[in-house]
Amino acid sequence: MSDKVDIKSMNLEELTDFMAELGEKPFRAKQIYQWIHGKQIENWDEMTNISKALREKLASAAYLTCLRKEEVQISKLDGTRKYLFALEDGNVIESVLMRYKHGNSVCISSQVGCRMGCRFCASTLDGLVRGLAPSEMLDQIYKIGRDIGERISNVVVMGTGEPLDNFDNLLKFIELLTDENGLNISQRNLTVSTCGIVPRMRELADRELAITLALSLHASNQQKRLELMPVANKYEIHEVVDACKYYFSRTGRRVTFEYSLVGGVNDTNRDAEELAALIHGMNCHVNLIPVNPIKERSYVQSNQEVIAAFKAKLEKKGIPVTVRREMGRDIDGACGQLRKRYIDTNG
Ligand code: SAH
Repeated sequence: MSDKVDIKSMNLEELTDFMAELGEKPFRAKQIYQWIHGKQIENWDEMTNISKALREKLASAAYLTCLRKEEVQISKLDGTRKYLFALEDGNVIESVLMRYKHGNSVCISSQVGCRMGCRFCASTLDGLVRGLAPSEMLDQIYKIGRDIGERISNVVVMGTGEPLDNFDNLLKFIELLTDENGLNISQRNLTVSTCGIVPRMRELADRELAITLALSLHASNQQKRLELMPVANKYEIHEVVDACKYYFSRTGRRVTFEYSLVGGVNDTNRDAEELAALIHGMNCHVNLIPVNPIKERSYVQSNQEVIAAFKAKLEKKGIPVTVRREMGRDIDGACGQLRKRYIDTNG
């Protein structure tokens, strides 16, 4: 595999160059691109308007990334599906399909494991193995679309991994996902979530894309954020919020702040007050997430009254806020739990 090229990670221009290298006509590039990204074929032989000779040539020079479905859990409560996919090198990743009235949304992983160390998160417990190639990010969506036989309209990069820690591959993935010859998902229907890697947030802003940036804030001051998120050692909370302001100034896109409510840790009235002051005047939206307890940590959810009071406090200050609906509560819902269980059981 290693001496072959990853054809599913190529844009049309790269594919055109690749055709030239193989001594083929440039128009073949567009045909092949449409097979791979428009029709999401799973093997070379599905390319029916490409000669057998060329298909063989392709197969000897390139590989077609194709994830293997290892396991699917389907929620009886809301139809949420959690997929465990195996990669070519034997690693496993997870992706989630959420069905909403407005369409199907897929949450993808951007890395195998994660090195950010957020205390409440299962994805980071075994550290980072590697970043995913653009093709491996894309194929999570292609496979799920095929599996359910329906169009995927929204994508969130909120699964395992820190997308801005795999920056170049993320940008390439966005280019391919939103390309008119591929799935053609609108940039507006794509959300990228980060724990707050400031220089990369600014770089992403400078690209002036129409994607939504979500920042995992989870605390209202630097000290509390440090207790939950080691990345705060590197980037101070105000620096991170400033990068969000910059993102809005460059893109005109309202930033989402994710705030996982952890019982007794970041859910007091004072926390809500401080949070409102921290993001005062910003064009933003706060998404409160009742923390999903993982067995390796002792964190608990805030109770319903506390969540309602926290929300009311922010609303009173004029901040748009929603409480994330918990999807798939009856399956391994929290980020990284399915993969963790699989690794722990299968070695
Ligand atoms: N690395 C990125 C994206 C992955 S996590 C980021 O940090 O944003 C997606 C979101 O789920 C983040 O806001 C993350 O902090 C949150 N999260 C992870 N584990 C969680 C848990 N057990 N309960 C609630 N939220 C969790």
